[in-house]
Amino acid sequence: MTRHPVTLQDIEAARARIADRIVRTPLVRSPSLSEATGAPVSLKLEQRQTTGSFKLRGATNALASLAPDAKARGVVGASTGNHGRGLAHAAAAEGVRCIVCMSALVPANKVDGIRALGAEIRIVGRSQDDAQVEVDRLVAEEGLTMVPPFDHPAIIAGQGTIGLELVEDAPDLDLVLVPLSGGGLAAGIAAAVKGRRPEARVVGVSMERGAAMHASLAAGRPTLVEEVPTLADSLGGGIGLENRYTFPMIRDLLDDVVLLSEEEIAAAIRHAYRHEQEIVEGAGAVGIGALLARKVEVRGPTVAVLSGRNIDMEMHRRIVSGEPITLGGN
Ligand SMILES: *Cc1c(COP(=O)(O)O)cnc(C)c1O
Repeated sequence: MTRHPVTLQDIEAARARIADRIVRTPLVRSPSLSEATGAPVSLKLEQRQTTGSFKLRGATNALASLAPDAKARGVVGASTGNHGRGLAHAAAAEGVRCIVCMSALVPANKVDGIRALGAEIRIVGRSQDDAQVEVDRLVAEEGLTMVPPFDHPAIIAGQGTIGLELVEDAPDLDLVLVPLSGGGLAAGIAAAVKGRRPEARVVGVSMERGAAMHASLAAGRPTLVEEVPTLADSLGGGIGLENRYTFPMIRDLLDDVVLLSEEEIAAAIRHAYRHEQEIVEGAGAVGIGALLARKVEVRGPTVAVLSGRNIDMEMHRRIVSGEPITLGGN
């Protein structure tokens, strides 16, 4: 196998660094999805992570790896929400100043949540790329350290700690379904799972509307896509034209990437609530959606990673009660 910038050893080191700061989330059997697919399906309940998503893992690992002078100046990040929450929490735990820049497309509940975790908020533009311009300015002019949401070895290694837990809890694993946006989560999980169990398959799941990694894989290089509102809002945003780490790792390590319609994402959120009694955001539900829509070949023990729960609860109520949804109203 090609040597990647994040190895199994890096992920094991990340786990040692963050173990006492994060929740080791449960892996639970799903009777309804096992019944529907004819194979044992389990859910990795990472939406129960502190701050409501796995992003705390990468952010905590990145913060713990900073030099003391960089910690003294503070950190900054651009975020569609969950990275900002994870970073804000991780920085507060370290006593480090944290500024989070985000686009006006980010739902209000996410903005309020990050502010409540103690970070300073800057709302900039209509896209992740606009927010990134302000991050670059703070780095250049005020000496803050940027902690990116996915394209950084410490972030990928932190997210990869989920993969270590998966192969320990399901040693006979055949297939892992991972929500895919910038690819930090899927790259880390794939490196860990395939490092420990090379025969296991790892499949990324994105939405049809604005799937930047899928478009980049098709083009053979990082590619821009238009950012459009989607129920899987945490999967929005580009992978960065200067992408260095996640694009090659995703290209080399993932077995497939599948895409879901908005209706399939809504059905997955509903299924999680009605059959699993879990509140999951759109991005977090796409693994369930891929199974329900039969978009992946299920051959043996299968895990869907539920990556987050930070959904507007009024939106959630409308989705689970089958009411019409209007997107982009934030
Ligand atoms: C960030 C995020 C993802 C996607 O992670 P990437 O590392 O960008 O691929 C998936 N689900 C949730 C809930 C997220 O917050």
